[in-house]
Amino acid sequence: MSVKEEMQKRRTFAIISHPDAGKTTLTEKFLLYGNLIRNAGTVKAKKSGKFATSDWMEIEKKRGISVTSSVMNFEYEGYQVNILDTPGHEDFSEDTYRTLTAVDSVIMIIDGTKGIEAQTLKLFKVCKMRGIPIFTFINKLDREGKDPFDLLKEIEDELGIQTYPMNWPVGMGKRFQGIFDRQNDQFIRFSGNEQEIPIPKEELDNYPELVENETFQAAYEEMELLEEAGEQLDMDAVQQGELTPVFFGSALAPFGVETFFESFISMAPQPFPRKASGELIPPDKEEFSGFIFKIQANMNKAHRDRVAFVRVCSGKFERGMNVTLDRTGKTIKIAQTQQFVASSRETAEIAYPGDIIGIYDPNVYRIGDTLVEGKNTFHYEELPQFPPELFKKVTAKNVMKAKQFKKGIEQLVQEGAIQLFRGVRNEEYIIGAVGQLQYDVFEYRMKNEYNVDIVLESIGERMPRWLKEEQVDQKLFDERSMLVKDREDNYIALFKNEFSLRWFRDKNPDIELIDLFEVN
Ligand code: GDP
Repeated sequence: MSVKEEMQKRRTFAIISHPDAGKTTLTEKFLLYGNLIRNAGTVKAKKSGKFATSDWMEIEKKRGISVTSSVMNFEYEGYQVNILDTPGHEDFSEDTYRTLTAVDSVIMIIDGTKGIEAQTLKLFKVCKMRGIPIFTFINKLDREGKDPFDLLKEIEDELGIQTYPMNWPVGMGKRFQGIFDRQNDQFIRFSGNEQEIPIPKEELDNYPELVENETFQAAYEEMELLEEAGEQLDMDAVQQGELTPVFFGSALAPFGVETFFESFISMAPQPFPRKASGELIPPDKEEFSGFIFKIQANMNKAHRDRVAFVRVCSGKFERGMNVTLDRTGKTIKIAQTQQFVASSRETAEIAYPGDIIGIYDPNVYRIGDTLVEGKNTFHYEELPQFPPELFKKVTAKNVMKAKQFKKGIEQLVQEGAIQLFRGVRNEEYIIGAVGQLQYDVFEYRMKNEYNVDIVLESIGERMPRWLKEEQVDQKLFDERSMLVKDREDNYIALFKNEFSLRWFRDKNPDIELIDLFEVN
């Protein structure tokens, strides 16, 4: 098959949600449809630590969860599905954000009983700034939740994206009866078991026991309102990330999950051309190219090996091929590769646009590196800098270890494990992360790779706002708006909370406060 045909079959996406919204439950259903697992509960077991993990780093073992944003791939109705995991809970890290730069679309799960939650919002912002198409699944219809119209309004108001309901629920919780499938003009009845029974709309009159109740009538009227509004599903707007198709269902029941998955797979975009060195590289270009979006270190303590995750953007990748590392111009033969599946690591021989491969990293790669087949190299757009939220002062326990301490920090920062800032007044080291996991990994690696014990002192959660150098007057900043510099010597104010941010803004209306999420 040609690269073009292979590429057209690829669906590479991530699932974003707040912890407990149902990501694991939904993913597990997808894996069942893909015959990747046979029993529900497998993924869960992995999460709770019952699943045997091989030789991954110690932190991972201690936590009983996977530190890596692993990749699951399987075939589904002729499509090649790649799901990139975006860890939540305490596993949330910058890698979670970076993973979103390697997908072609995203599924956003919202808990219908809670609406939009903090982590969903953060991950959504990254998708928005990258213009990634987003498909929404509103989960837990089997429980009494928020009104469907209110949920749509919440998405539109809080996320600033238009919505298009693909189906419409009839009741919820104990009164849940099924959903209207708007695309196919049918009602899908909830029978209490996994069987989903479709009834064409015009035949509904034949089911008086179903339709003659208040809940059904109310939902029917709501749906007619939607139809009268006459909005069409604008796929261009979906493609631009301006409109999200919304599906209601229950991952646990399960109800509406398989139809959701089918619609999603058929609507979700195939790999698209990506910008590199000022031009668009078409995925069906003959030569292989890809970029590194994540480096996983020390998965096996005995071997100190590192794996670089490469998103294939164009051409055909074959194990053993020679590629050029754009940053250095050096040719590298890629002999050791891994393809990531839910529970095991298999060696990848061939990969196409949309696929993710893990390559052995003898400490030469960096996040954001481009690999190209042949000598005509180019560079895929830099990964954006993501604003950290947690900040800690870091020092070496033993002052005699200052040299290793500096070296360790420099290397780990360069690798993208953590972000480094320096206090403006006293040059102290301040490290920033988006999740606690990054500190655990940082501390572990400083000790194990650089033999330095560190002391971390929390500065707490902060809201970083970048500043323009000419507007910085040190007198204006204090503990609540701590002034630091990043590696490029840009000034940043670390605001303690929303209140201190607003207070500063009111006092200094002329000073521009730049939110990285808004500018990238
Ligand atoms: P994750 O943290 O997003 O991966 O969420 P999980 O899939 O682990 O689900 C969190 C909890 O919500 C678990 O107890 C699930 O059984 C439950 N859950 C998931 N989907 C549904 C649903 O559709 N209905 C109900 N009632 N519970 C659900």
